[in-house]
Amino acid sequence: MNPNKWILIFVCILWNSSVIAPLSVSSSFSPTDIISTQDHFDFNSTRAYEIIQKQVDIGPRHPGSDGIEKTRLLIASELLPDSEWVISYQNFSKIWMENQNISLVNIICRPIDLDSTQPYFLLLAHYDTRLWADKDPDPLKRKHPVLGANDGASGVAMVLELGRVLLEYHNITNFKLVFFDGEDQGNIYGWDWILGSRFFVNSDEFLNQEISFAILFDMVAGTNATFKREKNSDKWAAELVTKIWNVASALGFNNYFLNQSGRGIIDDHIPILEKGVPAIDIIDEFGIRYKPWHTTFDNMTFIDENTLKAVGWTSESILIEFSTSPEWLSNLSSFTFQTQFILFDWISGTLLLMLGILNRKRKISRI
Ligand SMILES: [Zn+2]
Repeated sequence: MNPNKWILIFVCILWNSSVIAPLSVSSSFSPTDIISTQDHFDFNSTRAYEIIQKQVDIGPRHPGSDGIEKTRLLIASELLPDSEWVISYQNFSKIWMENQNISLVNIICRPIDLDSTQPYFLLLAHYDTRLWADKDPDPLKRKHPVLGANDGASGVAMVLELGRVLLEYHNITNFKLVFFDGEDQGNIYGWDWILGSRFFVNSDEFLNQEISFAILFDMVAGTNATFKREKNSDKWAAELVTKIWNVASALGFNNYFLNQSGRGIIDDHIPILEKGVPAIDIIDEFGIRYKPWHTTFDNMTFIDENTLKAVGWTSESILIEFSTSPEWLSNLSSFTFQTQFILFDWISGTLLLMLGILNRKRKISRI
């Protein structure tokens, strides 16, 4: 076995090892600690379903489309109570096909009474839909647009309804709702994924005030959805993941929230994790269970109000508990997360560099 192979094996072991796993992974939390004794939930899954329907009725909502303009207006109009919110728009642009300059817009909504001196949490979703249905079983439809009932509209509906519940029924004000543009256009006309969140984390809006944690909702309304512990969330924000999955189980939603390791997914929580803020992704195991993903049949047929209820009630419970007793997150250190990311980058970067040098030497010696 040549030395390159040994280095590759070492990198692979490191990637999945606990050497640099989150220091906070040894959670002191157990299901018996659950404070949630709610027997009543204000999250209205029917309203969330209707907000999905309204977006689907608009049609495709990819960057630069009339549909996405209409969706921006819809999001603003669905913020309730309507006089209690401040909306700001983050504009940036990107070259699309044939040098066309497309403007992208992140939408940031905060309660008017948010205390700018206190930490706050983020509820996140993307509102763009994919331009091409490149996973469609019919090859002739793979350049058709995706309607995004689940992939786009469901996250938006979840975040809007949770925001309403927190503000209207519980007077909780230290949070922001962020709706990202440009999440879902990777590999189309040279675009990358998660453009909106990458822009957001380098803006003053993100950097100016301490953030406790972030929860991203993506594909949260599919029929028979299953939410596994997404790999990146579990690696860098394990305690938050454990907490949410345990509360879901206590509420009887363990048929949705499977306490199993899931895939690692590039999604809008990654740039936030890289900045040292605990962030998790609640996302359906697409591609396996959720067949309509990136096809022309991501429509209302596969949307289930019961899935919205499972995610909505679990999230409502967690967010109210956090807002009334935030101590449970006190042992999550941003420094810890950030340090680990830097350490991880440094070690893997160094090893890959060594590998490159070895390869180069081997090539030279062959000549
Ligand atoms: Zn997608």
